[in-house]
Amino acid sequence: MVQEIGRSELQQKILRCNRCGFCQDVCPTYKVTGDEFNVARGRIRLTRLVVEGKYHWGEEAEITQHIESCLLCKACVATCPSRVATDEIVAQARAEITAAKGLTPFKRLVYRGVFSHNRRLVRVGRLLRYYQKSGIRWVVKKSGALKLMRNLGKAEDIIPQVPAANLREQLPQILKPVANPAHKVAYYPGCAINVFYSDIGKATIQVLQKNLCQVVVPHTVCCGGPHHSAGDHEEVKRLARENIDFLGRYEVEAIITDCATCGSILKEYGRLLQDDPGYREKALEFSAKVKDINEYLVEIGYSRELGPLPVVVSYHDPCHLGRGQKIIGPPREILKSIPQLELREMQEADWCCGGAGSYGITHPEISRKILDRKMKNFQATGASVLATSCPACTMQLQYGIKRYGLQAQVVHPVQLLARAYQAAEKKEEGEGNVPLPSGSENKTAV
Ligand code: SF4
Ligand code: SF4
Repeated sequence: MVQEIGRSELQQKILRCNRCGFCQDVCPTYKVTGDEFNVARGRIRLTRLVVEGKYHWGEEAEITQHIESCLLCKACVATCPSRVATDEIVAQARAEITAAKGLTPFKRLVYRGVFSHNRRLVRVGRLLRYYQKSGIRWVVKKSGALKLMRNLGKAEDIIPQVPAANLREQLPQILKPVANPAHKVAYYPGCAINVFYSDIGKATIQVLQKNLCQVVVPHTVCCGGPHHSAGDHEEVKRLARENIDFLGRYEVEAIITDCATCGSILKEYGRLLQDDPGYREKALEFSAKVKDINEYLVEIGYSRELGPLPVVVSYHDPCHLGRGQKIIGPPREILKSIPQLELREMQEADWCCGGAGSYGITHPEISRKILDRKMKNFQATGASVLATSCPACTMQLQYGIKRYGLQAQVVHPVQLLARAYQAAEKKEEGEGNVPLPSGSENKTAV
């Protein structure tokens, strides 16, 4: 939940914790550190000390650090017998820390400085591509300079290859008029899809068009997900109002996203702006229309004219989709409907990948230990494709595949569906199966 809560509500939420410790069994940060203050119970205890006036935020750096190291993955919430909303407690604690101490220089630079401004993010993407493609990357790596730049050095391992053109630049070639459309939808491409994973966005639009959806892609801004995780609620609200203004001009039946994080935040705008008389109604209407692509396709009964994809796939549940939006069945239904595709479930498919936005950069050691467990579970399936529905997870899982030296690809279910539609069309033309893989720059498309 992205809504701010007051001190008395925070206190009530804290008091629900009976200290049973069941959260220890599921909390990824506790599992990999063994530190009682890195589990829901410990974090709640620390927040309680502040609420009771025994400490003030920022006085003890260690307290702040334990609040900052929460993934907001909700695994504890799903298990807690008292239904304690630890994610909301931690989010509020972070908002109070930010109000008291301000954003860290890294978060101010990356979130307010870049994510808040579309054009800057696109420019950063172009610079990254230049860095990756020119000899500069080699020189910088050889010089060891990255080791000196703490956060940026870690980002270099995780950030994927930036495609030559971002999704918005490719839209004139992708958007097609649909004859006799059955639906009219707006597509919301999040920041990561636009800049890093245009192939996922392209597949989403193509699949929607195949299912008789007239698609519009209005100008939008960041959903506010990174700002929410940093406790910067004022900026989340500003971005929410902008998105509502941009998308509200279009008469569409649904606002589609293929990013689990964007979807979980966009669906909360109604609650976030409930105290804003100018936006309350508009925000509720907006949030009611937001649909994850997996959810929407199953709801409208997507076309089953699918060709075969002979491949073994395992699926990772993004925290923001599975626990955040309760969307667990639809991506699996899509995968299982593809002829010759075998869905092989991994152990702990809903165990966080450790990506959590920029967590891999801000908390590299914990993040990598959490990722290691995910990759071991994936490796045990013997699958060659790892599907997931969030670009932040995709980034982290691609890093895991590289780290483990696995011969596997990370894809969004909608990319497999797009391929299965192509396979059906090619079969009709007598061209046989669509070859796997496609050789996408990020190896995210099969
Ligand atoms: S499981 Fe819930 S009630 Fe039990 S210690 Fe954890 S947060 Fe508190
Ligand atoms: S949200 Fe996730 S990381 Fe945070 S306390 Fe709960 S289980 Fe642990």
